[in-house]
Amino acid sequence: MAETARTPLDPGFTRRYRFHGGLRLQVCQEAPAAQPIRHAGIPAQLILPLAQHIGDPARCLVRVGEHVLGGQCIAEAVGTVSAPVHAPTSGTVTAIEPRPVPHPSGLPATCLVIEPDGMDQTGVKAAPAGDYLQQEPAALLEQLRAAGIVGLGGAGFPTALKLARKHPIELLLINGAECEPCIACDDGLMRERAREVIEGVRILRHIVQPAACVIAVEDNMKESEQALRTALQELDEQHIRVLTVPAIYPTGGERQLIKVLTNREVPSQGFPADIGIVCQNVGTAAAAYAAIARTEPLRSRIVTMTGDGVRSPCNLEVLIGTPVRHLVEVAGGYTDHIERLLIGGPMMGYTISTDAVPVIKTTNCVLAVTAQSMPAPPPAQPCIRCGKCTEACPADLLPQQLYWHAHAANYDATQDYGLFDCIECGCCAYVCPSHIPLVQYYRHAKTAIWAQEKQQRAADIARERHEARLVRLERIRQERAEQLASKKQALTGKDAGDAARQASIQAALERVRRKKEQADIAPRNTDNLTPQQLRQIEEAEQRRASKTTGRGNPQEPPGQ
Ligand code: SF4
Ligand code: SF4
Repeated sequence: MAETARTPLDPGFTRRYRFHGGLRLQVCQEAPAAQPIRHAGIPAQLILPLAQHIGDPARCLVRVGEHVLGGQCIAEAVGTVSAPVHAPTSGTVTAIEPRPVPHPSGLPATCLVIEPDGMDQTGVKAAPAGDYLQQEPAALLEQLRAAGIVGLGGAGFPTALKLARKHPIELLLINGAECEPCIACDDGLMRERAREVIEGVRILRHIVQPAACVIAVEDNMKESEQALRTALQELDEQHIRVLTVPAIYPTGGERQLIKVLTNREVPSQGFPADIGIVCQNVGTAAAAYAAIARTEPLRSRIVTMTGDGVRSPCNLEVLIGTPVRHLVEVAGGYTDHIERLLIGGPMMGYTISTDAVPVIKTTNCVLAVTAQSMPAPPPAQPCIRCGKCTEACPADLLPQQLYWHAHAANYDATQDYGLFDCIECGCCAYVCPSHIPLVQYYRHAKTAIWAQEKQQRAADIARERHEARLVRLERIRQERAEQLASKKQALTGKDAGDAARQASIQAALERVRRKKEQADIAPRNTDNLTPQQLRQIEEAEQRRASKTTGRGNPQEPPGQ
């Protein structure tokens, strides 16, 4: 991606900038940050989806019937963008099967089901005490990856991957601004565990090594702000600053928060790192501290259980995999007028069809609402082109155009209008006088595009495989043809050799025959002799014979 022009960072962070649109929403009456965080305890069953993060689902490492310890890795990360899953407590794996999971689609997904034994035995070994700030950043990243830490602000992007620097980072921005009204898990965390947050930020800072490091909280989070400042003082930490930002929804959005503090814009479909910024949630920082300092994998998180549909709204420390039903029980049970449950807040939350769905790593809030507090919207009317949605859009999009094209299933056009820059904040739908469920159209369009891309990828893979097969078959055909040709050539060469050998034998035979003939016709030493010569030879032969007879056997040695 091309380097984006950057506004120089104000070293004092004295100014606050305004992002486009946004809403000043009434603070949720049931927000329970002021109450101490309660432990939800161990439920009767834990349901752990293999996909609780952005990226590929984890691969199961255990079998049904197997006993597992708390903190044991029960599903490993697959590929680069993935995260492992750990057993939240000790117990027995009772099923590996599709179960309802918290997702807007309402579709089930593969889950590991654990029946806790109540002993909470852990396989986590206490880390040797040591200064983690002396460790190599790469080693810390590996520990975060192995601990299954993902963004707890809601995105679920694997933290180690996000922290792995490709460019120099100017600003490490720790997001303590809540995503939306009613959600108070980060507020509660900062109030009660500010030291853990600061220690976690120190670790992240050591990994990223930015020029500046800031924790941002909303200006209505006075207790959190104070708790963080106190912790900074106690730890004598000079390199981390706490800053406040206006509580305008959705300031807690990564892009909006960056704009407010730095006046920089994250490029369309880009990342904060493209403009020299890494953003992490305060909950992620605390989880990083637990992972590094206490070698604790991600087994639990803080969840806000709120809304007028439960009797005692509260912040709960919840084991990952705990069914929502258990949270409701801990929060005093349903009120009489409970109508539905949402995962998330009133603006971005989605309805779940059953309270059997589990809390996963990214679940920050469960909202139990009544018809009174959140009445069903009136039937949608035609768009009147009032433009209010455009005014409210914090992503500076044209929601009305997006709606038209999404409605017409013209997905290419929705992308031209920046569909994937839409953060689904719901501001447009909130202000729409025609009560058009705009965000639902955008979500549907995104899902359809993803499905198309998946289909296209599958088709591309099939086509590539087919082409590769054709190439392979052609290669085999050619190799066979070549083999055949070389065999033929070899055979032809053998015939020629045989013929040559035969010819050579024939020539030899011929030579022998000729020699024989020559020998037959060649004059002997006794040929052509005169009668006198013949007589002389005969006389010589007779003399030799008479000598042999007169002196005995010429072979015997003389004197014997
Ligand atoms: S706010 Fe609603 S009615 Fe107005 S332009 Fe946007 S979609 Fe149309
Ligand atoms: S939901 Fe999307 S289009 Fe609507 S206001 Fe938010 S960012 Fe803009």
